[in-house]
Amino acid sequence: MENVGVMMTTPMSAYLEQQLQQRFTLFKLWESPSRTQFLTRRADSVNAVVGDTKIGADSELIDSLPRLEIVSTYSVGLDKIDLDKCRERGIRVTNTPDVLTDDVADLAIGLALTTLRRICACDAFVRNGSWRNGDFQLATKFSGKSVGILGLGRIGSAIAKRAKAFGCTIGYHSRTKKQITDYRYHSNAVDLAANCRILFVACSLTDETRHIVNREVIDALGPGGVLVNVGRGALVDEHELVSALCEGRLGGAGLDVFENEPHVPELFFELVNVVLLPHVGTDTVETSNTMADLVVANLECHFLKKPLLTPVI
Ligand code: NAP
Repeated sequence: MENVGVMMTTPMSAYLEQQLQQRFTLFKLWESPSRTQFLTRRADSVNAVVGDTKIGADSELIDSLPRLEIVSTYSVGLDKIDLDKCRERGIRVTNTPDVLTDDVADLAIGLALTTLRRICACDAFVRNGSWRNGDFQLATKFSGKSVGILGLGRIGSAIAKRAKAFGCTIGYHSRTKKQITDYRYHSNAVDLAANCRILFVACSLTDETRHIVNREVIDALGPGGVLVNVGRGALVDEHELVSALCEGRLGGAGLDVFENEPHVPELFFELVNVVLLPHVGTDTVETSNTMADLVVANLECHFLKKPLLTPVI
């Protein structure tokens, strides 16, 4: 398949680059001085785009690639792909569902525990010698708390399963009510937030869910509540989140994702009740390699005219 041109939009995985290079003609967009320069020379040679959570395939990129047949994203989230444009042009789209679910759910629970038990502050307390002057202050218990899941999809369900093992009660809000009798359904995000202590955000980012966690939801969670976001930054109104934390209207936050990554509002850095991670939900060696294999396998299926493994379109 050396005659198939695959363009990666941004560095995402050395292993993926190696696998693509072995099978296809690989173009690395970031190695060109500019997108325009790359497209002027190579637009006709690109049959597939591999994007990720940073740079996907927007309508401008899709329009500039006349021979584009498939977008295979190294992510489960589709928010960086213009799906309407792909449908219009008959371009296939695949993502990497399921294989990353456990890692993201593990990290979500880790974020809740780290925020409530103040694990980062405890670590600093030992390292900087403060322990010699007295004990660390008391933190907040996680086990047995009421948990809310915003988006009971693959990742949300895996978080619920883990939280259940901690003896937590589970409430959720999704587009659809599920057939799970021991999880309580809430018809909107405000009602969910008002009825839980720890709110996990795990829904997909779309026009409908942008800022689904707004001031009203944050205030409903309140000073005793903690927000954990492993979905996408723009699901939360970050400006409102910062002010609620600064004003003590929200108890704390554990965040893997931000609205304008890699830029994080500096006000967060001054807060002791937040834990900040650089979007590492799926970043284990095991999962990143499995995601890469799935990206490659989808491309191979497409160009061998076999059914796609994880088709979106
Ligand atoms: P999924 O199975 O498709 O779940 C998406 C969930 O979002 C579903 O429960 C869906 O509701 C809900 N949802 C969609 N639109 C909604 C709306 N308007 N109101 C309320 N809920 C809505 O996807 P997944 O595999 O669990 O992944 C979820 C998201 O996690 C991804 O889209 C991605 O953005 C994010 N993610 C982050 C990381 C990270 O590194 N932090 C890694 C992987 C994924 P229904 O159940 O009713 O369909």
